[in-house]
Amino acid sequence: MSRVFNFSAGPAALPLDVLEKIRDDIPDWQNTGMSVMEVSHRGKHFVELAARSEANVRELLEIPADYSVLFPQGGATLQMAMAPLNLADRGDTVDYVVTGSWGKKAAGEATKFCKVNVAADASDKKFTYIPDESSWQRSDNAAYLHYTPNETIAGVEFHFVPGGDVPLVADMSSTLLSRPIDVSRFGVIYAGAQKNIGPAGLTLVIVRNDLLDKARPNNAHLMTWKSYAESDSMTNTPPTFAWYVADLVFQHLKDRGGLGAVADVNRRKASKLYAAIDDSGFYSNPVNKNCRSWMNVPFILADDSLDAKFLEESQAAGLTNLKGHRSVGGMRASIYNAVSEEAVDALIGFMAEFEKANG
Ligand SMILES: *Cc1c(COP(=O)(O)O)cnc(C)c1O
Repeated sequence: MSRVFNFSAGPAALPLDVLEKIRDDIPDWQNTGMSVMEVSHRGKHFVELAARSEANVRELLEIPADYSVLFPQGGATLQMAMAPLNLADRGDTVDYVVTGSWGKKAAGEATKFCKVNVAADASDKKFTYIPDESSWQRSDNAAYLHYTPNETIAGVEFHFVPGGDVPLVADMSSTLLSRPIDVSRFGVIYAGAQKNIGPAGLTLVIVRNDLLDKARPNNAHLMTWKSYAESDSMTNTPPTFAWYVADLVFQHLKDRGGLGAVADVNRRKASKLYAAIDDSGFYSNPVNKNCRSWMNVPFILADDSLDAKFLEESQAAGLTNLKGHRSVGGMRASIYNAVSEEAVDALIGFMAEFEKANG
């Protein structure tokens, strides 16, 4: 067996010990004589898994008791529609802070369901900064403020939580579980699983309970957070395999010492990679230093005619999925929880050698 260092933005790397456990579990999960994919989601073993995974998410993120933890399908993109449908009526105004492609997409989706006020928009500088909070044009009575704490494509991350009284709705797809957060500051947090949680197909939603009663009365059952809250996310058949893997990832993060310990490693990984970029005359990262992402690190080469060579040679060196998003160009290293410090060191070493040979 040979494993590469995988810098994919998503679906992304999973911890090797989790993959090995899956391999061992598959034919006969928990002495059921079946794989987890073949058991009833309402049977004892899976119900226990669901309860344990929720308890572990609560413990990892220190989620207050007045929040529900939901496991729907549909990814983060479905939540971009579910947020307005669960929190606002058609005539209501909602505020969006757009600091990247995903926030823009979320705002676009919400315009189908209510009145969207874009309170701030960083597209004028190609999503390389966060407009100063004092300049945001917030509405007087927004039903909520939506923002994207980590923009996966341009690599822009909030290192603060916005203020104000309205519920904050946060798309944390590419940052949730990378460090401790204060959940009580948020109304709703949502994340597609395939970055830091597990396989695609599962979504994690954390919602403050008083917000569960704001859904539109004619909302489809599966589009209503309260349906999931009232059924332990067994509203219909959940994505059992994806949920099982997420459960293993939560246990893995606890075994690593929890999110404080995970954050220490993530901070170190990001700061050494940015330092390597900034200290070279060959690589650069265009994002303001006060909002650089810990998870997604885009960088460009001084001469973009070398991009193909960089990708080919890094691939040959066992460093994979470094091609930048087509909207940004260059390279992007996604260094989620499951990407080890060793992988980041290997990337930095490769970059130095490539610069020496070609710079
Ligand atoms: C990946 C990503 C999405 C899209 O997630 P899906 O699960 O594919 O819907 C949305 N927002 C952010 C911030 C992402 O990183």
